[in-house]
Amino acid sequence: MDIKTDVLIIGSGIAGLFAAIKIAEFAEVVVVTKKEKTESNTNYAQGGIASVMSSEDSFETHVKDTLTAGAGLCNAKMVNIMVKEGPDRIRDLIELGAEFTLKNGKLDLVREGGHSVPRIVHAKDLTGKEIERALIDKVNSFNNIRLIENSLAIDLITEHNVLKLKEGPLSNRNCWGAYVMRGESKEVIKIAAKATVLATGGLGQVYWHTTNPAIATGDGFAMAYRAGARIGNMEFIQFHPTSLYNPNKKNNNNSNAFLISEAVRGFGAILRTKDGNPFMERYDERKDLAPRDIVARAIDNELKKSGEDCVYLDITHLPAKNIIDKFPNIYSICKNYGIDITKEWIPVVPAAHYACGGIVVDEFGRTSLKGLYACGEVSMTGVHGANRLASNSLLEAIVFSFRASKNIREFLRNYPSDIPEIPGWDDSGALTSDEKVLITHSIKEVKQIMWDYVGIVRSNQRLLRAEKRVHNLYTENEELYKKTKVFEEILELRNLITCAHMIIKSAKMRKESRGLHYTIDFPETLEAHLASDTIIQNLHP
Ligand SMILES: Cc1cc2nc3c(=O)[nH]c(=O)nc-3n(C[C@H](O)[C@H](O)[C@H](O)COP(=O)(O)OP(=O)(O)OC[C@H]3O[C@@H](n4cnc5c(N)ncnc54)[C@H](O)[C@@H]3O)c2cc1C
Repeated sequence: MDIKTDVLIIGSGIAGLFAAIKIAEFAEVVVVTKKEKTESNTNYAQGGIASVMSSEDSFETHVKDTLTAGAGLCNAKMVNIMVKEGPDRIRDLIELGAEFTLKNGKLDLVREGGHSVPRIVHAKDLTGKEIERALIDKVNSFNNIRLIENSLAIDLITEHNVLKLKEGPLSNRNCWGAYVMRGESKEVIKIAAKATVLATGGLGQVYWHTTNPAIATGDGFAMAYRAGARIGNMEFIQFHPTSLYNPNKKNNNNSNAFLISEAVRGFGAILRTKDGNPFMERYDERKDLAPRDIVARAIDNELKKSGEDCVYLDITHLPAKNIIDKFPNIYSICKNYGIDITKEWIPVVPAAHYACGGIVVDEFGRTSLKGLYACGEVSMTGVHGANRLASNSLLEAIVFSFRASKNIREFLRNYPSDIPEIPGWDDSGALTSDEKVLITHSIKEVKQIMWDYVGIVRSNQRLLRAEKRVHNLYTENEELYKKTKVFEEILELRNLITCAHMIIKSAKMRKESRGLHYTIDFPETLEAHLASDTIIQNLHP
């Protein structure tokens, strides 16, 4: 059954739910989400949200820390907005019911890598889960928010699609909602909306190893690209250096990998190769305490040299009681995998963790298409630049989804007319595929190509090879897509391939190493490239 609404929000993580609550104060909202409502990157966030919440902290230092991490590419105006509006949005979350950890009646602020003072608001080490709980409870209290689970948005409905416009500038074209595939029935419905908010989260699933859950197939980035929106800085993928390597997943990808917190290295753990050699001293004088990107690169290099699947984190030289006291969650999760971390080394591997680039938006979350907004990880506000400062992503999501909701109020007030008649989804002539192996195999191929050639360390040759292979996959999959009735895997594969294409294209454009993008062909960071984003756009959507 088709739906018509004021605002369509795609995604039920922190960005989508926060926007829904704010927009429901003045308009009717439909939220679609591809699995159960809590299944999101947000739900797995452990550490917390960075914000200036104490008198010992200042906006200036939070801005400075963010700019330093961003390696010269942050948009200073956007960083200032995020930092200054952060405390009010944290108070909003508390008012909405989020229960953060307190110490002596005040927020218990902790410090993380790259922050010069303790400023991380958290709910023990399950911050994301607590935020999702509170936001879902609030959403449930609104009659004018309809949250529809198990509904996967396929493509945006755009003016150029509907009116079959081939020429002319894209920038003033309207977005009027999305085509969405409903759960079990696989029926494709149209949801027509005056404003559409993409809040679809990240794309970690493009890579063989990732901390992201299965939903993170980059659907929003791909939908926006296909629709002709501007996309920026896709080469900046943050890899977490130490995710638990699960040997049982050997023939499959290491997805939704459990994070072994950097605090374990801070506590004295040593990274070793399989034969026991500590290797970090060969890469950085800070050894195991070097920053995230340096450790990730060192591990990657060791794995490429040895051909092994993982390296090991050794904490066995420390007293068992202290380990268990300090890391009860890591201890018990590893125990479930059959590893006693007080006696055995922990197998670890770097994993794709966060996309710093995304759909280019302004300070109100507006994309380059009229009526299309983007917030959260799928957007590129410019606050992360070439590298994200820990715990700034949840903050970015609430600050800019709030701003988008304010702008949508004005947008709806001035909306000139009703949405035109939108054609239904046409799959007449399409067949049901009984060749799922073609899809599952291609999914593995994309992940492996991206891991091996477009991962932590890149080169011209690796990027060229990846480009050719991904192009082949694109051609094969488009052929299949055009003659097959849609189903989840084929849609996700299509999006993974599009994201892979965008990451490769952006990485090829950047002829230097900066922040999270490291290439052996251009190892230097170039002054001349300061503040130059890599922007791509599909000009013939
Ligand atoms: C293990 C882990 C730990 C992290 N820890 C922290 C931390 O401590 N601090 C921090 O700031 N950040 C952290 N991050 C990053 C942070 O969690 C994310 O950047 C943030 O939660 C993204 O929020 P979001 O609302 O943009 O997207 P998400 O929370 O990922 O939500 C996206 C939503 O979109 C839906 N969706 C996707 N595609 C479609 C589609 N086609 N149709 C319909 N629905 C769709 C999904 O189902 C989901 O509901 C962590 C991430 C991970 C993976």
